[in-house]
Amino acid sequence: MSDVLIYAEVGRDDGGLFLKKATAEIATAARTVADATGGRVVALVPADVEQAAEKLGRYGVDAVHAVSADGFMPYQLEAHALAVTQLAGEISPALVLFAATVVGKELGAYVSGRLGAPIAADVVSLEWADGAVRVSKPMYAGKAFATVRLGERPVVSLRPNALAPVESPRDAVLEPLAVTAPAARVRLRERQAAAEKTIELTEADTIVSGGRGLGDPEKWDIVLDLAHALGAAHGASRAVVDAGWRPHSEQVGQTGKTVSPKLYVACGISGAIQHLAGMSSSKVIVAINKDPEAPIFKVADYGIVGDVHEVLPMLTEATKAFLA
Ligand SMILES: Cc1cc2nc3c(=O)[nH]c(=O)nc-3n(C[C@H](O)[C@H](O)[C@H](O)COP(=O)(O)OP(=O)(O)OC[C@H]3O[C@@H](n4cnc5c(N)ncnc54)[C@H](O)[C@@H]3O)c2cc1C
Repeated sequence: MSDVLIYAEVGRDDGGLFLKKATAEIATAARTVADATGGRVVALVPADVEQAAEKLGRYGVDAVHAVSADGFMPYQLEAHALAVTQLAGEISPALVLFAATVVGKELGAYVSGRLGAPIAADVVSLEWADGAVRVSKPMYAGKAFATVRLGERPVVSLRPNALAPVESPRDAVLEPLAVTAPAARVRLRERQAAAEKTIELTEADTIVSGGRGLGDPEKWDIVLDLAHALGAAHGASRAVVDAGWRPHSEQVGQTGKTVSPKLYVACGISGAIQHLAGMSSSKVIVAINKDPEAPIFKVADYGIVGDVHEVLPMLTEATKAFLA
């Protein structure tokens, strides 16, 4: 009868605070584990998010502990780790689960250190088997998957988009969590809006990424045009980030972001193993490359051998016509 504790990550946009999409995914994974252990799914929400209990209850969460004290928003590592460890101390969960986002991976590592618990980061699936949490974890930049049986009361982060959220409605109980934020070691001095309104890569269902095959940063608009037509986020290979064409926040891969959208369109990207490490778990991969031998075609579901400067404008027009 052990509970599962999830950390419900909160974002902020023009409409205020909201629960990130990956929260529904970890709630779904937590529900399957809790069904097997006979326990509850308990969520920690580190802020006052409207209707948090209703939203999380839809995906099988039984109890929501919300923090409304000062010093928790914007995100502070020590404060959020304290809230998670405090709640974990109260309920002794069989598993503490995070989304493997930038925040979730950092927080998971910190919390596992604080709890002295084993950790598996960036897993793509998890289950309760033979009295323990068992996870599947990509290795060698996604070329192999290790099945790992974790020790007692582990901390796990689940890769966003690896699992589809499943509704399992219940009336989640909302309780405030009394916790005092420690003195912040890092203070937010200024917030700068992005130059253009973009969709966060790790949250996106569709991503259009460009690589060195674009040939010239001035030509990047053809990547953005297709992304806008599809309502997609846009990403980049490291080659173009290193060349200063695009910001590092758009880099997909081993040293960039790990994404698992429903559709990933790779334009003029060779498919180096370090790039594949960040996107090979995408559901459908479309590659456009003028070299029929480019390694990206080995992972692509659909491949177009052609020049991006010809193919992308045609795809954009066809997309617009289709969606009109
Ligand atoms: C430790 C380490 C970490 C790394 N981390 C990352 C990472 O996180 N992400 C990442 O992306 N890379 C990473 N790399 C770099 C990686 O090895 C590759 O160098 C990089 O991904 C190549 O980027 P690219 O595919 O855009 O460029 P290229 O390898 O130069 O490929 C360009 C492709 O475009 C095609 N092309 C050219 N012109 C056209 C055209 N007109 N139309 C269509 N196709 C065209 C070419 O056939 C080619 O396949 C890392 C490397 C190391 C060593």
